[in-house]
Amino acid sequence: MPSKPARLCGCGIRVDPGVRCPCQQRMDAARKARFDKTRPSAAARGLDGDWRRLRAAHLREHPNCRRCGAPAREVDHIVPRSVAPERRLDPTNLQSLCTPCHSGAKQREERRNLAR
Ligand SMILES: [Zn+2]
Ligand SMILES: [Zn+2]
Repeated sequence: MPSKPARLCGCGIRVDPGVRCPCQQRMDAARKARFDKTRPSAAARGLDGDWRRLRAAHLREHPNCRRCGAPAREVDHIVPRSVAPERRLDPTNLQSLCTPCHSGAKQREERRNLAR
């Protein structure tokens, strides 16, 4: 049974079938490194360390949704950030919400803003 011929990679190296050429492996590594570098940091996405710590602490202390009692996954600002940006890290301005209540609250908030 004849063995499959080695294929010739664009870089000039002969590679056995099913084997990635070293040049492709290097390219994969470079692409991954670039991706890691360009991925926005948490701070760039607006979720800085202070907020994340505060949010986690709040969820530990108030693990259930304030509206319906389901396990909370979100921490919401009672006074929205658009109204009181200085209270973003104010622990008394936070409430734990489950995801459905959180999105419901946000939608109501948006409707209110639209009505203004
Ligand atoms: Zn190659
Ligand atoms: Zn809820």
